[in-house]
Amino acid sequence: MPKELHEQLENGYLQLVEWRRHLHRHPELSYQETNTAFFIGEQLRSFGIDVKTGVGGNGVLGFLRGGREGKTIALRADFDALPIADEKQVPYKSTVDGVMHACGHDGHTSALLGVARVLSQVRDRLKGNVVFLFQHAEEKPPGGAKFMIEAGCLDNVDAVFGAHLATDIPLGKIGLREGAIMAAVDAFSVTIHGKGGHGAKPHETIDAVVVGSQIVNHLQQIVSRRVNPLQSAVVTIGVFQAGTAFNIIAEKARIEGTVRTFDKVVRRQIEEEIRAIVHGVCAASRAGYDIEYLNGYPALINPKKETELLRNIIAESFGSDALFEVEPAMIAEDFAYYLERKPGAFFQVGARGENENTHYPHHHPRFDFDERALLVSGKIFLDIVSHYLL
Ligand code: MN
Repeated sequence: MPKELHEQLENGYLQLVEWRRHLHRHPELSYQETNTAFFIGEQLRSFGIDVKTGVGGNGVLGFLRGGREGKTIALRADFDALPIADEKQVPYKSTVDGVMHACGHDGHTSALLGVARVLSQVRDRLKGNVVFLFQHAEEKPPGGAKFMIEAGCLDNVDAVFGAHLATDIPLGKIGLREGAIMAAVDAFSVTIHGKGGHGAKPHETIDAVVVGSQIVNHLQQIVSRRVNPLQSAVVTIGVFQAGTAFNIIAEKARIEGTVRTFDKVVRRQIEEEIRAIVHGVCAASRAGYDIEYLNGYPALINPKKETELLRNIIAESFGSDALFEVEPAMIAEDFAYYLERKPGAFFQVGARGENENTHYPHHHPRFDFDERALLVSGKIFLDIVSHYLL
């Protein structure tokens, strides 16, 4: 049976490519994906799948009821694009100025549509149901996953699976790992309120540049001196803005940064350290401050049982040589929210072909991928559903 499903997916390959290229030509930014959501809903309806739109925003939920009772398995694809101008010279180049599918979400959506079509043709044989989670706004916290879950997209779901195409992995290889593979991401911004004045009369001022510099320096000690060296963490300051002229002491300074962690305790610890440092340095300098601290996506943690299951499924369909142990990275992915609530797993599908156009990193203005990866991703999803429901 799984073989038969693979063949049906392969027979629809040109359609997968057409969907992907259509989405690629018409990218939409996070939280603005109304046309994309409409397109997905239309396709799902044409397969006879029940569709709910407007799920937690622009999210689209497809529900396929099997012929018999059983588990409910959710499969997720995201569909938002990025604020990047497409520099590729291909017929399917983005038609929207400054917006581009530069992370492969167009491919995720097209592959999952293909899976939905194949499964809709065998629905009577399914012992259970499939939920297709087409998720908006993955690229921009707070992220679509959180809102879709709040809207009930995981209700009655027994397990949830997701995939990401990856141009740093060769076509035919599939990346998987048990445990923490992506980091929790938090963001903070600090505004320092000093006292401005003449550059020649520092004693009459509170120099926001000096206070800010001390904060930036002090923050470097969190990872090096406060966090257990056996834990992973990043504290990066990406913004430091202050001042107006060479001979004026700045009244205000603004610092923005990101914090990445795998462990929940370390995550809380670093927030406390940052708040304490900002408070302490400002108090010692007699400066005022405002701090905003935003908790973003949690760490993405693949549980043992479903990771093992995926390993077996992939080895059976593609051979154990196809399996590739991905390295954990401090990037983030809001699929983590689903795995906080339900069993499941997240895997990465090699999309780097022989053509050098498919070698650019994600979020690059020339990003593209080998479209044959759509079949790999789709086949794994079909195998997952076969395992649970056939
Ligand atoms: Mn992505």
